[in-house]
Amino acid sequence: MAEQAPELWESPESTTVVVIGAGPAGLTVANLLRHSGIDCVVLERRTREHVAQRQRAGIVEARAVRMFDSWGLADQVLGGVPSDGTLEFRVDGESHLVSDDDGSEGPPARLCPQQVLVQKLTAGYLADGGDLRFEAADISLHDLTGDRPTVRYRTADGTLRAIACAFVAGCDGDRGISRASVPDGVLTAHAFDHGIGWLTVLADAPPPARPLFAVSPHGFAAHFARGPHASRYYLQCPPDDHPGAWPDPRVWDALRTRLADPALTPGPITDRETFRLRSLVHDPMQYGRLFLVGDAAHIVSPMGGKGMNLALHDADLFARAVRDSVRDHDETGLRTYSQCCLRRVWNDQEFSHWLTRTLHDAGDDTHSGPFHRGLARARLDRLFTSPTASRAFAELMAGLDTVPNAGAQDGRGPG
Ligand SMILES: Cc1cc2nc3c(=O)[nH]c(=O)nc-3n(C[C@H](O)[C@H](O)[C@H](O)COP(=O)(O)OP(=O)(O)OC[C@H]3O[C@@H](n4cnc5c(N)ncnc54)[C@H](O)[C@@H]3O)c2cc1C
Repeated sequence: MAEQAPELWESPESTTVVVIGAGPAGLTVANLLRHSGIDCVVLERRTREHVAQRQRAGIVEARAVRMFDSWGLADQVLGGVPSDGTLEFRVDGESHLVSDDDGSEGPPARLCPQQVLVQKLTAGYLADGGDLRFEAADISLHDLTGDRPTVRYRTADGTLRAIACAFVAGCDGDRGISRASVPDGVLTAHAFDHGIGWLTVLADAPPPARPLFAVSPHGFAAHFARGPHASRYYLQCPPDDHPGAWPDPRVWDALRTRLADPALTPGPITDRETFRLRSLVHDPMQYGRLFLVGDAAHIVSPMGGKGMNLALHDADLFARAVRDSVRDHDETGLRTYSQCCLRRVWNDQEFSHWLTRTLHDAGDDTHSGPFHRGLARARLDRLFTSPTASRAFAELMAGLDTVPNAGAQDGRGPG
């Protein structure tokens, strides 16, 4: 964007935190700050309708449910239904049920589609008097290493606005302006491409009884609920495949074969896209008074359902850190934000990587070869037969803390 002459900008407003992006990360930050009595402004470049309809994740893990619970917000922001705590792995047509209940006290994970969470977070924040501005264009961040950063943007009617603040929460995803505002050389990007593609399909078709992962020589497939009458399906495909290569009959034929379910009920396909499985971590997750939250800092391959849940974890840590700074002049949380987030990020990256490799290598040996296929089958066998292995898996699925000072389980509560 061309730099505007300073006199064209309205005199700056002032707030404590400007939140860039109204996805799960930004809206959670906003709700938690508002709940703590800390003022903030959320700037989102898209319309409310667009943001409310974006369908992606489907499970809020147990840790995140308990995080909202600890803030007294679970009833307000979580829709969907509690998970029954069981996953199905179907290997060459043979079904194996694995529990994702790690035996800890507290509410379980919830089957809550991402768009339902976003709608509820939006409604809760606005009902509480929150300041959320849609269609904010040309956002730019200034003086991030000074005491009072400024965020500039253009409203839908073309007015140029500026907001001075104490902190900027960069919650605008992988392609947002926040991370792009950090000078070159400050952040290190750790990237990994699995060399695997997925076709993902949303359809108005009956959901499975429980999340289903299928392994077969035809390639990986999965079937998840996205509400009472909708499903998301995944099909392994070549990394550079195109959705146009997957007309409806091919999708349903491949699903029936790979899920070993000849009676699978089809339905109208409402969305279809292909993408590469990749993982990305930016370190550190902070530059001056800009804090990166959620996908702005890291991307996790979708296997294991960690991306949105990591965003919620970052949001919790950031909101606590700001609250402690503003209320008690305690800077510890802000100082350790990046380090605490990154410990969990790497933990979840490892889990997602392990599950990705296991479920792809076990079926299709064209990618990694027969030796890795044997290793992956051995890992699955251990998961299906060893209570200890299954318990470790459940702990990782639940997302509960094994990391001190890294979230709602740190014993401090939201205060
Ligand atoms: C197909 C698919 C399936 C997935 N499945 C799962 C799953 O099963 N489980 C799971 O946990 N995760 C899943 N994920 C990942 C999950 O969707 C993301 O991790 C999650 O959306 C991250 O939330 P966020 O708020 O950080 O970013 P986003 O959801 O990307 O939100 C960023 C927001 O910032 C806005 N924005 C962007 N740029 C700007 C700008 N310049 N100015 C202002 N606003 C801006 C965007 O419009 C958006 O509203 C999936 C992702 C995909 C693509």
